[in-house]
Amino acid sequence: MKSRWVDRDAEAMVALGAKSGIAPDLALRVYTTRLLGGDPKLVLHGGGNTSLKTRMGDRFGQDVEVLRVKSSGSDMAALEPEGLVAVRLSPMRQLRALDDIDDEELVRIERANLIDPAAPNPSVEMMLHAFLPQKYIDHTHATAVLSLIDQPDGEKKCADAFGGRLAFVPYLMPGFGLAKKATEVFEQVKPADGLILSKHGIVTFGDNAREAYERMIEMVTLAEDFIARNHRNAIVATLWHDLEPVAAVAPIVRGACSQKDEKTDGAWRRLVLEFRSNPTVLSALQADLARLSDGGVVTPDHTIRTKNWPLVLPHPEAGKLDVFARSSHEAADAFIVRYRDYFVRHNARVGGVKHELDPLPRVVLVQGLGLFGLGRSKQDAVIAADIAEAWVEGVAGAEAIGRFESISEAEMFDCEYWPLEQAKLGARKQLPLEGQIVAVTGAGGAIGTATARAFAAAGADVALLDVNLSAATERANAIGATALPLACDVTDAASVAAAFDKIAEYFGGVDIVVSNAGAAWQGRIGEVAEDVLRKSFELNFYGHQRVAQAAVKIMLAQGTGGCLLFNVSKQAVNPGPNFGPYGIPKAAALALMRQYALDYGSDGIRANAVNADRIRSGLLTKEMIAQRSKARGLSEKDYMSGNLLGREVTAEDVAQAFLHQALALKTTADVTTVDGGNIAAAMR
Ligand SMILES: [Zn+2]
Repeated sequence: MKSRWVDRDAEAMVALGAKSGIAPDLALRVYTTRLLGGDPKLVLHGGGNTSLKTRMGDRFGQDVEVLRVKSSGSDMAALEPEGLVAVRLSPMRQLRALDDIDDEELVRIERANLIDPAAPNPSVEMMLHAFLPQKYIDHTHATAVLSLIDQPDGEKKCADAFGGRLAFVPYLMPGFGLAKKATEVFEQVKPADGLILSKHGIVTFGDNAREAYERMIEMVTLAEDFIARNHRNAIVATLWHDLEPVAAVAPIVRGACSQKDEKTDGAWRRLVLEFRSNPTVLSALQADLARLSDGGVVTPDHTIRTKNWPLVLPHPEAGKLDVFARSSHEAADAFIVRYRDYFVRHNARVGGVKHELDPLPRVVLVQGLGLFGLGRSKQDAVIAADIAEAWVEGVAGAEAIGRFESISEAEMFDCEYWPLEQAKLGARKQLPLEGQIVAVTGAGGAIGTATARAFAAAGADVALLDVNLSAATERANAIGATALPLACDVTDAASVAAAFDKIAEYFGGVDIVVSNAGAAWQGRIGEVAEDVLRKSFELNFYGHQRVAQAAVKIMLAQGTGGCLLFNVSKQAVNPGPNFGPYGIPKAAALALMRQYALDYGSDGIRANAVNADRIRSGLLTKEMIAQRSKARGLSEKDYMSGNLLGREVTAEDVAQAFLHQALALKTTADVTTVDGGNIAAAMR
């Protein structure tokens, strides 16, 4: 591992800081924190932390000694100076006299000593930074170091690898106790470069930012060299040739790792998936997997993202998906039983005060194929997958030089259920569609865009399908980094199948489909060319059928129900003159919706339609509005609000109607009218 320190960049950071009154020592602290945070082999997703001891003016103009320490759970790679919370150092150091302190009391004391009372909570490892004397302290959970210390004889391996430059601190749960113990060890041993926190990570320190940072790089390099020198019995992955593809496997895995909501009939707790595969992962999947996966996390704070153990599934043999599905469900059920038992046993040990988290796996290893990270959103799934990859690498390194051994189950429980660790995940408000995957066709258009946005705002992860990929991409980017844009021509069966395969590969499956793509053809029905009518049927009827068929296939593989929503124009029930080529396939699409509701109700799959009219969109352009209102002698405004309520109907109104139908778990075969009131188009 090489130092990424660049004099020119460091100077630029100091110069930039000077413009907003940031002292050079703090500017450099930010700089090296970002260097550490930018390397996933050192730091992942809110793990690791850094600090600086310095002086600053408080709110009363007094010059005080402070600890600037990373706030809890924040990302080191994107750290800003405010992300290093300032706490009065002297009162924090006085706490060392205490034998122990309650977590909540400690947080209260920390908060009472913040220079900015509105600052976020400091890192859960803050006291370690406060008690140690050095100006700059860096702490990471570097993968190579974890391979060295997650061993029965980790202390000896560290002595060999680091030649006594780091003192060895036995395992204690992160927090106050560990901070005291580490400081005690430091005072006895007086190591020059830093500390090893057994089964947890590494600390380096220095008088300046560069020294602390480059010691970290040097020590991690020593760990890497040690592993390279002592590496034995590498397992080479054999390639399987008879595997089902990820697109077919993922919905089964996702279904197995879902849970019926006991409180609401028809509701499920679902997770979103992120797939990873590479030679290291594939080799690890061939090793003594039962023992390794039972071994636990490579560093304690991973447990909140991945739980303690992955779910292990056999290889999905081609043509035998039913066998794979059966073993997946059995294995997932056993995982849940084991997790529940783990919770009950350890909760009893700590006095029954904890509330059980959901027992679903967060990492799934599929032999021969790769691994899945699982989360309540795509973003959480990506984090779980990143940590799972680091776990694989850490364990593989440990096994290459000895035998992987983590902390005990009780110690993992104490971390998983430590309120300060859970706080890192944030007290996020639970959204109604969290964990659900939604595909919208015609997502580049007005109604499609509004619908994708509305479902994303309700917590769903969304795939935006459109015949125009650049329109879909632009809309997806506006929604967020995890929204998936896809090219999809619903008049082409292969294009629809390919798009739904990609959705299954990327998210793990699909729960709700808004089949919205459509276009209008006109002509007096007795005179219209057959070819025009067929074209309209291809898009406005068969398009819906292809999309629904592809979605239902995935929904059945998941086995957790689903929801098909169709955009059926007002034309489906109230034909307009010379609009037959558009209205007739829409009427057929309405019948299609009812048929899906009928045929798949027993599988928990609902089908509903929205019957919208006169929306500004690609089907009703500005020019058309001007033309039609003029022809009727109306102002544009009166034309657009020419309905019983006298209100213009917008794409957002249609989106909200789809959302409502998706959330109404007891509603199927429904048609919702969104037209401001049109008695001739009223359903009944
Ligand atoms: Zn740590």
